[in-house]
Amino acid sequence: MTSQEHVVVIGGGLAGLRLADRLGPAATVTVLGEESHVPYNRVLLAEVLAGRYAPEVTALPAPGPALRRGVRAVRVDRAERAVHCDDGTVAPYDTLVLATGSNAVLPPLRGLFEPGGRELPDGVHAFRTMDDCLALSAAVRPGVRAVVIGGGLLGVSAARALAARGAVVVLAQQGERLMERQLDADASALLATHLSGLGVEIHTECRVRGLVTTGPPAARVRAESGTRRRADAPDAPRKVTHVELADGYRLEADVVVLACGVRPRTGLARAAGLEVRTGIVVDDHLRTGDPRIHAIGDCAEHAGQVYGLAGAALEQADALAAVLTGAPAPYTGTRALTRLTLGAPGPGPGAGAGHLDLAAFGETTPRPGDDVVRLADATRRTYRKVVLRGDLLVGGVLLGELSTVGALARTWEGGEPPHDLFHLLTDDGGH
Ligand SMILES: Cc1cc2nc3c(=O)[nH]c(=O)nc-3n(C[C@H](O)[C@H](O)[C@H](O)COP(=O)(O)OP(=O)(O)OC[C@H]3O[C@@H](n4cnc5c(N)ncnc54)[C@H](O)[C@@H]3O)c2cc1C
Repeated sequence: MTSQEHVVVIGGGLAGLRLADRLGPAATVTVLGEESHVPYNRVLLAEVLAGRYAPEVTALPAPGPALRRGVRAVRVDRAERAVHCDDGTVAPYDTLVLATGSNAVLPPLRGLFEPGGRELPDGVHAFRTMDDCLALSAAVRPGVRAVVIGGGLLGVSAARALAARGAVVVLAQQGERLMERQLDADASALLATHLSGLGVEIHTECRVRGLVTTGPPAARVRAESGTRRRADAPDAPRKVTHVELADGYRLEADVVVLACGVRPRTGLARAAGLEVRTGIVVDDHLRTGDPRIHAIGDCAEHAGQVYGLAGAALEQADALAAVLTGAPAPYTGTRALTRLTLGAPGPGPGAGAGHLDLAAFGETTPRPGDDVVRLADATRRTYRKVVLRGDLLVGGVLLGELSTVGALARTWEGGEPPHDLFHLLTDDGGH
């Protein structure tokens, strides 16, 4: 690649901007980013919602003129090697990188949309973007009744943040326990105890059937200046009043957060004829079936894996920068650690009592024949567990006390047998 070559990156999020930064002057880079905000790290949105960080704190390093903010790519023309944008401009490329991230999954709930409509009722929010976060934040006041649908990482973060703002929070989780993907049953139970202590009411194995809103359920709609409004009451937008559970029970709700997972944004790639399974399929050079087009971050699928995690997005961006600057080392996957801080550890607003650190990596639920070492301290509410297969560390989960997480994760990432497992589990670095 030469500095004359034009690299167009679609998506000004964590992966796209990291790639632009890593490429530096090695190429002429344009990043197309549909969001109008200063680029931000969405991992920190829960802290903004909790009122702990101002939105500016989440800013990613300034991308300079490479980023065209508020511009959405609408079509990739592979024959012309050009990207068409919603403002009518066309960006020609020598290399194209899809870093389009993912969208929040909107579950098929009765009453979520009006027939033929695409607008969420007032009070109902996804939790993916800064816009989602600011809208939710504006709706939350002490005493507001909030229902969070989904008990994964996003739902737990949102519930904690809303409780910190004084909302009366109910978390409805369809699965048996919280954060099923990352935690084992004991760690989930400790997390549930922690959230309950913050005032969050948790319902597990609880399927939400629909939303109840103001106004007749199947109101007619008509298009008005590109937006849809109710024909019978144009100035009265639909507003959520209740969340209805599968058994018919209704939870009162002023605010509803949809935290039902994410789906990779693959529309552009699919329309351009690239292979898409769950994500955009890439090889060990993060390359799609078209050698000029690559994909990284939440939208990419490598070796059957879509990560949806910040660590993987950054690692893929670094690996692709190496590929594009002529120093390729094959990307072999990311050993992603999930880390979550609920509440503030130090002094400051919302800090102290409500604080819980949590980390999980690899396989936290053992297979038959695996060995498990577990240290639990009910008084200090700490929990450490590792799973061993043969003499290899294959996973672990830590709650409440994370001083050993770095050493454990390095051992796991390195694929080396741990020398002194007990030391690894208990060494607190002298603190
Ligand atoms: C609330 C929240 C908490 C999270 N917490 C954690 C955590 O604790 N740990 C963790 O590892 N991960 C966490 N994640 C996930 C993490 O944020 C993502 O894995 C990471 O942001 C992925 O980076 P990305 O660049 O692939 O996608 P994104 O950050 O989503 O960026 C993609 C960008 O592309 C833009 N875009 C899409 N299509 C177009 C188009 N056609 N034209 C122009 N622009 C386009 C989007 O608007 C977006 O700005 C969290 C996510 C959320 C929402």
